[in-house]
Order: sequence, then structure tokens, then C-alpha cells
Amino acid sequence: MISINGLHKQFGDLEVLKGIDLQVNKGQVIVVIGPSGSGKTTLLRCLNILEVPTSGSIKIDDQTADFSKAVGKRKVDLLRRQSAMVFQHYNLFPHMTALQNVMEGPIIVKKTPKAEALKKAQELLNKVGLGDKHDFFPHQLSGGQQQRVGIARALALEPKVMLFDEPTSALDPELVGEVLQVMKDLAGEGITMIVVTHEMRFAKDVADEVIFMDQGKIIERSNPSDMFTQPKEERTRQFLNLIQ
Ligand code: ATP
Repeated sequence: MISINGLHKQFGDLEVLKGIDLQVNKGQVIVVIGPSGSGKTTLLRCLNILEVPTSGSIKIDDQTADFSKAVGKRKVDLLRRQSAMVFQHYNLFPHMTALQNVMEGPIIVKKTPKAEALKKAQELLNKVGLGDKHDFFPHQLSGGQQQRVGIARALALEPKVMLFDEPTSALDPELVGEVLQVMKDLAGEGITMIVVTHEMRFAKDVADEVIFMDQGKIIERSNPSDMFTQPKEERTRQFLNLIQ
């Protein structure tokens, strides 16, 4: 369902992704771990084409782009629409209510009729446990509630894959659980997810596979049990020793 081949990303002289190959099946939950600066965020941003890869190809469902050649804007748009991102800092529109935040994407991007977008947004906010907060503005919501709006907003785009970039790392510890629970529920529904996180408990409980990245490369990929108890690579072991 997702096929990434030879993906490179360079910022000036700095090569941040050095040839990423990754296949993800429909419904899989992939957790990406690795040290700061290893390229985890850049990988997600390339998948959502918030950064244009320097070379390599990305296929998500029935859309493919090969960035080794020039890629037209229409192709980029089609590929971008296959995924939706949940950001560390929520990135909600501050002047819009929770409901308006969730409706905006479908109306603007997908040209969904307003009444339909409204109904869908209401359903999604209810689903993430915010049934009583539809008309609240972001500043009236806790971080955990804002992030749940962020998740509802991404879901509203009906992506083929949900990309989560450290969705709980800006939250106070007591608010982390409510966001992880929503993500667990989504995983249980069979939504394909790629999650960059430092929440190892989530990785152990929810991931089908864990990927360890270091210095722009995938060093190791395995099921959570093997990754956390018997990593094959020395670099993985060192990293896990530091964080566990
Ligand atoms: P963290 O866990 O700290 O978020 P990460 O693994 O997600 O780290 P990235 O955010 O992908 O790492 O960054 C990888 C490298 O790319 C870093 O050295 C970073 O400074 C650099 N980088 C990221 N975005 C840009 C940019 N737009 N311009 C220049 N350099 C960038």
C-alpha cells in the first residue's frame, strides 16, 4: 500500500535522508524511533510532500511520484492527498472553532459541500471524545483536547495513511494518555498509521512494526517485541539503553 524507494532529502549540503526504502501494508501501524536529528520528521514531511524529496519514489495506494525526475504540481497534490499529518504543536487555526478547524480541509481541499463537511466534522469530534467542545476555540481547549481536534482534522481528509509527528511530546504528562487512547482506537479500526514517537509503551502495545532510524537511514526494522528485547544492531541497542 505504501512503497518508498531510494528516498533522499538534502537541505543544502546536509543530506538528511540517505536512501530510505520502506514498504507498509494496509492497516499496519509503524512506529518510527531514533535519535534527535536522525530524519524522522523529515521522512514524514516528505511522505506528505511538505518537503519535496531530492530523489527517490513514493507510492501511496494508487498514486506514485518519482522525485528523481521533475514532478508536476497536480501529481504532487494527488500524492499529498493520500496522507494527512498530525503535528507536534497541533497547528490548529486559532481563529476557528474546533468544528470549523475540522470542516476546513474537506471544504477547501476536497470541495465537500458545507452541510456534508459539517456532519462529518461533528461525527469526528464526537469520535475523539469532544462531543461537548464543537464550538470552542483552540485557546479554550487543553493541549490534549487540541491534539484530538488535530487528529479529527486529519481524519476528515479521509487519508489512506495517517502520519503522526511526535503527537504527544508537547503535552503535559497527564494529557498524554487521552491522545494515545484515541490513536489506539484508530489502530484498532485498521487505519494505516506511521507514528514518530518517544512513547515506547505505545510502540510496544500498538505497533505492528518498529523502525529504528539513525543518521538518515533505517538501521533496523522488526516487531516491537524483538526490537525492544533483542535488537540486532549495536546502534539500536545503544539508543534503547539510553531511553529505556
Ligand atoms: P527530532 O527527534 O529532534 O525531531 P528528527 O529525527 O525528527 O529529530 P529531523 O527533524 O527530520 O530529525 O531533522 C533532521 C536534520 O535535518 C536535522 O539536522 C535538522 O536540523 C535538519 N533539517 C530539518 N529540516 C530542515 C530544513 N527545513 N532546513 C534545513 N535543515 C533542516
